[in-house]
Amino acid sequence: MVELEHPACEICGATAPDPVAARTDLLFGGDTVYTICRCGGCGVLYQHPRPTEATIGQLYPHDTSYPSYRRDVAVEPLLRRLDRRYGLAKRCRLVTRHVQAGHLLDVGCATGDFLSEMRRQPGWSVMGIEPSPTAGRYAHDQVGLTVVAGTLNDAAFADASFDAVTMWDVLEHVYKPREVIAEAARILRPGGVLVVNHPNTASLDRRIFTRLWVGYELPRHLYLYPPELLRQIMAEYGLREVERVCFYGSHAAAVDSLIYLVEQRIGRGWASRILRKILRSLPVRVAAVPYFTLTDRLGLGSNVTAVFARKP
Ligand SMILES: [Zn+2]
Repeated sequence: MVELEHPACEICGATAPDPVAARTDLLFGGDTVYTICRCGGCGVLYQHPRPTEATIGQLYPHDTSYPSYRRDVAVEPLLRRLDRRYGLAKRCRLVTRHVQAGHLLDVGCATGDFLSEMRRQPGWSVMGIEPSPTAGRYAHDQVGLTVVAGTLNDAAFADASFDAVTMWDVLEHVYKPREVIAEAARILRPGGVLVVNHPNTASLDRRIFTRLWVGYELPRHLYLYPPELLRQIMAEYGLREVERVCFYGSHAAAVDSLIYLVEQRIGRGWASRILRKILRSLPVRVAAVPYFTLTDRLGLGSNVTAVFARKP
C-alpha cells in the first residue's frame, strides 16, 4: 500500500503550495490521482502530497517495463541500436566538451547504456551507482560495468574523486535534492563538471499538453526545476552553470505526451499502439526534424540538460 505525505518544499521550506496539474499514473495505471504543485516561496514544482520514501518503490516495476530499466543497446534491433548510440554519443560529447578525460560517475546509471558508450571515449574510466537491484545487476553482469548499489548519499565517495558526475533523468526523482547536489559538489574535483538532464518546465510541450505533459511523470517525479531556479540552487553549492542545452529526446517526449492525449479520448489499446509506432517511425521523425531542431535551439524542448562546473 502506497502511503502519501504532505512535505514542505525541500528547496526553500515553504508550505501550502498551489496545485498545477493532477492526474493518475498514466504509465502503469491505477485510480489514485497525484498532484504536482508550485511552491509559492521558490517556484519549484513538486508533488504534493507525494508517496513516502518507504513506499514509492512499489510504483517502480523492477523489470524492463520501466523505460529507464530497458535492456542495454547491445541487444536491440540494428536501427534502434544505431539511433540510441547516436543519442548516447551526443551525451558523451557534451561531457568531453568541458572535461577531456578522467574519472566519471553516472548517478542512477540504470542498465548502463550511457556508461557503456562513455567508456569507449579515450582517457575515461567510468563507474555507476544505481538503486534498482535489477538494473544495477544487469549493468554489472551483462555490460561489465563497475556499479555501486544504492544511492549517491549512501556511497561515501572520497572528496574530489571525480572529474565528471552525470545525472540523466535523476534529480526529478530524489526526495532531498539539496543533499544530492551538495554530495555531487563534494565528490567533484575543482573544475570538474556536473551534468544534469531534467524535464524542461519552460518547454513548449508543457504549454501544449498541460497536465498530460510527459515531464510530470506522476507519481515518480517529485521535483521539477525551472532552469533558472536550478542555476541559482547549484550556485549555492559552488557549481556554476557553463552550458544549458536542449539536445535530445524531444521527439520521443512529444510522442509520449501526444499518446497520453489520444488515450484520454479513445483509451489505451491497439489504435494508440499503432499510432505510437507511426509517430516514432523514421519518416515521421525525419519530417519533424525542422520543428524539433528549432524548438530545441530556442530552449523549448521537453528535456533540458545543464552543465555545472565546480568552482576552483
Ligand atoms: Zn520552495
